[in-house]
Order: sequence, then C-alpha cells, then structure tokens
Amino acid sequence: MELEITIRKRASAFAAEVAALVKQSIAEQVARAVGASKPATRPAKATGARVARAKPYSPKGRKLRLPPHCIAPNCTKPYVGGSKRSFTCDQHFKASKVEKRKWLAAWRETKVKG
Ligand SMILES: [Zn+2]
Repeated sequence: MELEITIRKRASAFAAEVAALVKQSIAEQVARAVGASKPATRPAKATGARVARAKPYSPKGRKLRLPPHCIAPNCTKPYVGGSKRSFTCDQHFKASKVEKRKWLAAWRETKVKG
C-alpha cells in the first residue's frame, strides 16, 4: 500500500511538473512568435519604402550611354550604324554573331560598373 501511495504521489508531482514545463514552453513560443513578428515586419516595410524613396530615378542620370568606339576588343575605330550593326566598325561588322554578342555583353558589364 505504501509503495502505491508513494508512486501515486510521485506520478502526480511528475504530471504537475510536466504541465508546468509545457505551459512555460508554450508561453516562450508565443512570446517568441509575437516578439519576432512585430520587429521583423514593421522595420522591413519602413526601410524598404525608405530605400525606394532614397533612389529616385532622376531624368538627369538617364543618359543613353553608348560605347565610345567599336566594341571589338583593342579596336579604337569609330563604329558605323550604331546599334543596328552592334556598335562595330566596318572591319568588325563581319565578325560572327556569337562574337558580337560576347563583345556587347562585355560592354554592358563595363556600363554597369562605371
Ligand atoms: Zn572594330
């Protein structure tokens, strides 16, 4: 009988402990969820709007930037015909489409950097 009683006592104590732990963990999770969601959403929206406003697309900076000369590497001849002929001189206009595309891609990269 005594053993049964001690077991029951311990079992009830254990149950109470588990219940307390569960309550605590739930409270922590709720606090974390509430605490994490509030600062994460509000400043993110605010900074996003600020960033969008900080970089206005000014018409002054919208210059059409063209290559200074033929886009072929190590060629300083002026190009003929502009974009119609991929900004190549008479000599390099005969180059293959693949090569011209490569040159154009290289030119675009320098455009982004500068
Ligand atoms: Zn050329």
